[in-house]
Amino acid sequence: MSILHEVHHAANNASSRAAPTAWQRELASAYRDAAALVRALDLPPSLVGSADPGESLFPLVVTRSFAARMRRGDPEDPLLRQVLPVAMEGRETDGYVTDPVGDLAAEQSPGLLHKYAGRVLVIAASACAIHCRYCFRRHFPYDAAPRGSDALRAACAYVRGDPSVREVILSGGDPLLQSDGALTRWSAALAAIPHVRRLRVHTRLPIVLPSRVDAGLIEWLDRTREVGLAPWIVVHANHPAELVGDCAHALTRLVDSGVPVLNQAVLLRGVNDDAAVLAELSERLIDLRVQPYYLHQLDPVAGAAHFHVSEERGRAIVADLRARLPGYAVPRYVREDAGAAHKTEIA
Ligand SMILES: *Cc1c(COP(=O)(O)O)cnc(C)c1O
Ligand code: SF4
Repeated sequence: MSILHEVHHAANNASSRAAPTAWQRELASAYRDAAALVRALDLPPSLVGSADPGESLFPLVVTRSFAARMRRGDPEDPLLRQVLPVAMEGRETDGYVTDPVGDLAAEQSPGLLHKYAGRVLVIAASACAIHCRYCFRRHFPYDAAPRGSDALRAACAYVRGDPSVREVILSGGDPLLQSDGALTRWSAALAAIPHVRRLRVHTRLPIVLPSRVDAGLIEWLDRTREVGLAPWIVVHANHPAELVGDCAHALTRLVDSGVPVLNQAVLLRGVNDDAAVLAELSERLIDLRVQPYYLHQLDPVAGAAHFHVSEERGRAIVADLRARLPGYAVPRYVREDAGAAHKTEIA
């Protein structure tokens, strides 16, 4: 406990003095107003009128970097579709619920989910740099979860007490929205628990806020290895048009630093429910040396029913991918069943 205490103390002092970094300034300039985004894309203001119901529950947030990769004047742009609230979100659909994957039942201590053998998932942050309309945690009660050093203390107490836990997954929200100092507190505290070997980070920031992959983050990854934890990064991109420009550069920088980088995507109607699109996504990922990992069936979260693709179609698309790609570039098509011991392979 005393080591933890000192680490907290040092990092708190450091972060309270620090000026905002470039990525923090960029985050502050994100679009939080659908009208401004639509205007910037040369789209008719009427697109926003239909956006109200979902907006009030889960407001629009999208970084300027991500918006810059959208096609101007195209209301069906696959990146725009991921973030623009639409009236259909307000429609109630049977089977679509606020906690579709049983997160609340799997919460072993506040903010910590232990569903699968050997690994726990920690809600280490409550915010994201972008609000994905299909997000399965769009109704998660983040306000009730502990934050900052409370989240860290609670997670470490649980993990210390269970020697079967070899891997801790930082999730959220987006865990990389924390400062480098806060991340260092996590890695130092977890490294002090002898049975923890790996620190996995589930983050969309390298895709949506590529400036987060800066010298400070790379140094944090190096320090994490130095204290004896192997970092792994799992990013989230759904469409090949996401993997260009500053995003491609950020992924290259991450991979060059030596950290394994995997990608998970969600199968989404009107975004990537097409074998040619998903094949191109995989091609770009492997060209960047990022390993396609999962293709998730949409979790039935209230407000996202209009993104649904049937498993039958999903299977056909994945069969098509197998015929187009090297074996290592075909992601595992999975769904999450509440209460199951692992993700369920569909294809
Ligand atoms: C998806 C998930 C994981 C990670 O599962 P992997 O198959 O190891 O990627 C871990 N914990 C929870 C609660 C999850 O939902
Ligand atoms: S980045 Fe991930 S957690 Fe955040 S809104 Fe998107 S899907 Fe949800």
